[in-house]
Amino acid sequence: MNPSIPASSSGLSPRRTFLKQTAVATAAIAGSRYLRFSEASAATAPASATKPWFLRATRWMQTNIAELDNTRYDIPWWRAQWARTKTQGIVVNAGGIVAFYPTQIPFHPKAQFLGDRDLFGDLSKAARADGVAVFARMDSNGAPEETYQAHPEWFTLNTQTGRPFADRGLSIPCINGAYYREHIPAILKEIAEKYKPEGFTDNIWSGLPRANICYCDNCVKKFRADRGLDLPQQANWDEPAYRAWIEWGYACRLEIWDLFNKTTRTAGGPDCLWVGMNGVSIAGAAGEFRDYREICKRTEILMIDNQRRVDTTGFQSNGVGGRLVHGLLGWDKLAPESMALYQTASENFRVASKPEPEVRLWALDGIAAGIQPWWHYINAYQEDRRMYETPVPLGQWHQQHEEFLVNRTPVATVGIVYSQRNNDFFGRQDAEAQVNSPQRGFTEALLHARIPYILVHADDLDRDAAQLKLLILPNLGTMTDAHIASVRKFVQNGGGLIASGATSLCDQWGDPRADLALGDLFGVHLPANHYLRNEASRRQSAAQSTQTYLRLTPELRAQVDGPHPAGEPAAVGTRHEVLRGFEHTDIIPFGGSVAELSLDPTVQVLLTLVPNRPTAPPEMIWTQNDHTSLPGLILNERAGFGRVVYLAADLDRRYARDNIADTEHLLINLVRWAAKDDIPLKIDGPGLLDSHLYQQPGRALVHLVNLSNTNAWRGPVEELIPVGPLKISVRLPNGVSGKSLRLLVSNQKPALSLANGWASFELPSILDHELAVIE
Ligand SMILES: [Zn+2]
Repeated sequence: MNPSIPASSSGLSPRRTFLKQTAVATAAIAGSRYLRFSEASAATAPASATKPWFLRATRWMQTNIAELDNTRYDIPWWRAQWARTKTQGIVVNAGGIVAFYPTQIPFHPKAQFLGDRDLFGDLSKAARADGVAVFARMDSNGAPEETYQAHPEWFTLNTQTGRPFADRGLSIPCINGAYYREHIPAILKEIAEKYKPEGFTDNIWSGLPRANICYCDNCVKKFRADRGLDLPQQANWDEPAYRAWIEWGYACRLEIWDLFNKTTRTAGGPDCLWVGMNGVSIAGAAGEFRDYREICKRTEILMIDNQRRVDTTGFQSNGVGGRLVHGLLGWDKLAPESMALYQTASENFRVASKPEPEVRLWALDGIAAGIQPWWHYINAYQEDRRMYETPVPLGQWHQQHEEFLVNRTPVATVGIVYSQRNNDFFGRQDAEAQVNSPQRGFTEALLHARIPYILVHADDLDRDAAQLKLLILPNLGTMTDAHIASVRKFVQNGGGLIASGATSLCDQWGDPRADLALGDLFGVHLPANHYLRNEASRRQSAAQSTQTYLRLTPELRAQVDGPHPAGEPAAVGTRHEVLRGFEHTDIIPFGGSVAELSLDPTVQVLLTLVPNRPTAPPEMIWTQNDHTSLPGLILNERAGFGRVVYLAADLDRRYARDNIADTEHLLINLVRWAAKDDIPLKIDGPGLLDSHLYQQPGRALVHLVNLSNTNAWRGPVEELIPVGPLKISVRLPNGVSGKSLRLLVSNQKPALSLANGWASFELPSILDHELAVIE
């Protein structure tokens, strides 16, 4: 039943190699007293033994157990797989929907084919013997019909059907009933006491998503007791009961987080953490009522379930995710991410191998952003054996260079500000267009420009803005008075600001204020009838897609190109530097709309709207009304303040949606200007790179991921394409002398030159990624 493995460099047949490794592993287990990971590792690695397990286990693996695996789980084989992938922790199915151990808890059915076997226990023992940490994996969010029939009060209630809400063919229990509050804790206690795993994860732990309101008796009573209100009848963001229900929904899930942690730490010891599982987007967290910032405050390690890229957001979304979670969690903590080794497409082929380059680039874009690998198999036995090989080279490289991959602090001067509350109360039912797309427009532009940046939660503005030169507020409609005070202070101290759309218009509930609260900084004020004041109009405007343009001012047609476009610009001095690169055009594509604004005398308007015209037939593609004064881009420069940009035209959202190169170019120009070009990393050369600059004591790290590969626009990548040479310059952080340079992927040592506090070198070529260490 052993899976076969391709030949290794040892010369032994794969089967013999693994028999040999298995024999060693079996000998180890026979002499073991089943140490916990912390104890076993302490014996072999004294230098790192002072760190708890959740700071040391940086490479994870999960064989997501199917019930049939009870008959075929070859533990010796998997121990060898842990060893050659340098795995330090595993996620093992324990209980919840079904138990993979002999449970005593009623309504906790044993998995089919388990028989007298204790699969979870056997795997835990094997892991202990190998010094591998164990997360007991739960799934708390589904139970079969028998359980519902016996305990209907444990379940959610859909008043439309009189039945529980259902998912995956199972009924969904309510987080406010005894299933979540007593039954699952009993299982956690049983497992923690019996097996002492390092911790617990949970596939789905937060109950019913926000899209539905549970009307079970527990929710009715608890909402009344907690908030003094009846449950809302429908989603209505303007209704006080619904607003209260949203806040309460988050609070109830945090109660679950705290209850489960108290349970596991009481039964399994203070480091027996319960950490759930979370996605890596604020929109996703909001949809599940998971308060990402509060969760990160509560946890010592974050287990991320975000298994693959999608064509619309690319590999780079993993790098954005790393910046997001570490911005909240701290860069000294670990955030392993479940990475699918199976084929993911419109249909998930769960037992077929994904091409290695596709897995590799997804993993690397996360690793470069501080994420740790957590290789994910479905089923303990694979007929498509190629996926066994996929994590081996990266796992080994990761182990070799681990000290350069964790506990590194980002060096950046640009921060993009967001908040979960903005996603909820401003984004409401249109968060993709109102919140996510504007943010993604900027993260994509910064990716293309190779400008390092961090993501800043609005509640952390005062802490994070201290190192920054520029704050970007992409349609950050909902801002509290405290957020506004923080941004105001930043700009008054000389920091740059780029804001778009409704930024600062709305209060914490998403209700519009009398004016943009940061309007004095923008030099922009909203007239009483402006469309941004109204949610429905905002939505309509965001959805608009017409053939509008933006006119660059002043026009250069006469000065530059003359009647026939040709040659170099003759006179470009009259345009602002943020319009550099557009000398041969007076318009750029837009697609949206803008309206009248009230402007302060200090501002400059650099783009104005060119109204829509027909797209067909060609005879009718013209308009005589092609000049307006409607402002699209406004700059406000005042003595003593930072440079301020206000985008009335939603170019951030449009860029995320339409990928227009002119829009990208303009956004990059705006960032460089507003940051006074104070960017600590410069990279010249071809390619699309996700670029990170970090520091550790005495060293600077440049971590680059090459995303300019074939199929990078639509998965899966089948082949890696090198780019280079690249000329890289780094402004050395304090305490870094810049005497030596190593490249940890290509193993080269190019010459390093120093001038004016900057270190420069040439990277001849980059295939998948490169990590440059400057000391
Ligand atoms: Zn309920």
